[in-house]
Amino acid sequence: MKKITIAIDGHSSCGKSTMAKDLARELGYVYIDTGAMYRACTLYAIEANLFNGQEIDVEAFHSQMSNINITFKFNASTGRPDTYLNGVRVEDRIRTMEVSSKVSIVAAIDFVRSAMVRQQQQMGQGGGVILDGRDIGTTVFPDAELKIFVTASAEVRAKRRYDELMAKGEKCNLEEILQNVLERDHIDSTRAVSPLRKADDAIVLDNSEMTIPEQKAWLIAKVNEKIGE
Ligand code: C5P
Repeated sequence: MKKITIAIDGHSSCGKSTMAKDLARELGYVYIDTGAMYRACTLYAIEANLFNGQEIDVEAFHSQMSNINITFKFNASTGRPDTYLNGVRVEDRIRTMEVSSKVSIVAAIDFVRSAMVRQQQQMGQGGGVILDGRDIGTTVFPDAELKIFVTASAEVRAKRRYDELMAKGEKCNLEEILQNVLERDHIDSTRAVSPLRKADDAIVLDNSEMTIPEQKAWLIAKVNEKIGE
């Protein structure tokens, strides 16, 4: 069967990664969580003390960029890939509110984006991959056979992120999460390099009112249409 490249872009916390991971498992494709890569860069910057509040020392970060090595390793117990930063598993540490509140600042830096985009293109070459992010269909794989642009209302997205953090036992506040979602939407959509935008040939999926099984059925139908073309 033809192995295609699937680009899933969209707003923060609209369930792109859950959807992409499940679809990859179903199709036997490789899943690449590009947001995790920007999160791992952010964790590196925090731990290297490159942040002063919400300000980052861009020059120092530039000089240390070559120290950042991000890899994924399949975790058999969760059935999903875990993120590693310089050989250390950081899957949980990259999902905290602290990282979420700084990641869009890091992801707006041009040399960070060019390094990540290069790695993503290498990881995804050959097809049979699903990447989720903000610029996959526009910049990383503009020729991807199937492009989906996912969105949902900011309130629905904040509530989903809140439930996810609560389930992990992280203390959080719904209003603070909503503000973070809105702020990341704003920074991601207005940055100079590869801003978040729907590729002209992407199909929009607004999943505000959809259950996970409904969303999965919708996606599988789109994939089958593409594979059958
Ligand atoms: O998808 P996730 O919420 O984990 O992504 C974290 C952040 O990384 C986003 O808010 C965005 O700032 C950035 N990002 C990006 N380009 C991508 C993936 C993520 O700018 N391809």
